[in-house]
Amino acid sequence: GVRVDGTTRLMGIIGDPISQARTPQAINPIFAGKGADIVCVPLHVPADDLATVWAGLKAMPNLIGFGVTLPHKQIVPQLCDSLDPLAARIGAVNVVRREPDGRFRGYQFDGQGFVRGLIAQGVVLQGRDALMIGAGGAAVAIAFALQQAGIARLVVANRTFDKAEALARAVNEATGTSFATAGAPTPESGQLVVNATSLGLNDSDPLPLDVSMLQAGMTVAEVIAKPEITALLRAAEQRGAAIHSGIHMITGQVSLIADHMIAALG
Ligand code: NDP
Repeated sequence: GVRVDGTTRLMGIIGDPISQARTPQAINPIFAGKGADIVCVPLHVPADDLATVWAGLKAMPNLIGFGVTLPHKQIVPQLCDSLDPLAARIGAVNVVRREPDGRFRGYQFDGQGFVRGLIAQGVVLQGRDALMIGAGGAAVAIAFALQQAGIARLVVANRTFDKAEALARAVNEATGTSFATAGAPTPESGQLVVNATSLGLNDSDPLPLDVSMLQAGMTVAEVIAKPEITALLRAAEQRGAAIHSGIHMITGQVSLIADHMIAALG
């Protein structure tokens, strides 16, 4: 179990609402298993009170950092003392860590967590082509991480096409490549198909793409973690594709964040 005493370091997770946060129950057993004297607790922080809370968090030396969830991800970069280059490129922060000099530095692990989840499940990325539906915050992070992970080419499809084009341009400019292209989903566009939209959270949502293009040999991966098996994954499985739930993105991320926090203990 988790042991807490006067020397325990505190990690928070800030959001509004916060009751849906899965980080505390996922990360505390990892800290305990690694013998790290850190406990993670949910902190309910309404958007209007973020600046007030921020000053308080900063003032507590035994707080080693915190996760950041909705609605704070895009505001927190402005409050951080410094940003990891990837977080700066993406324009969103999901982890803040107190660095040895006491300053708060912002990081973004959504994309790396997604990739770590795929690798943990044995999905091959090196040299494969990928198709991603979506161009929001999660999609931007995933596009950078797929490029880093050795995916050969990425086609980005999105309801708002301008956002797909902007995403592809941002990744290509930052990496000096022609890795990403905005385009329509076709069976030729990727052996790895990623749903990075919010479609699938609700039963009534339409499917994010025409599932008749899915076939054996493809891997269809989700960012949606709840439900664990979305309508898209069910359809993909029926058509013979391998499927990868959004829960692996959470697992992958939490293990990365745990390592990142433990490293700050020195
Ligand atoms: P954003 O709001 O930034 O982006 C939403 C995306 O979904 C956009 O591409 C948007 O298209 C698309 N979309 C939404 N509704 C529709 C619709 N009716 N038809 C077509 N496209 C639609 O959200 P995020 O990127 O921050 O998050 C996306 C999802 O990722 C969330 O559901 C979240 O739960 C999940 N997520 C999961 C994580 C995990 O660890 N498993 C971590 C982070 C996020 P358009 O641009 O046209 O509006």
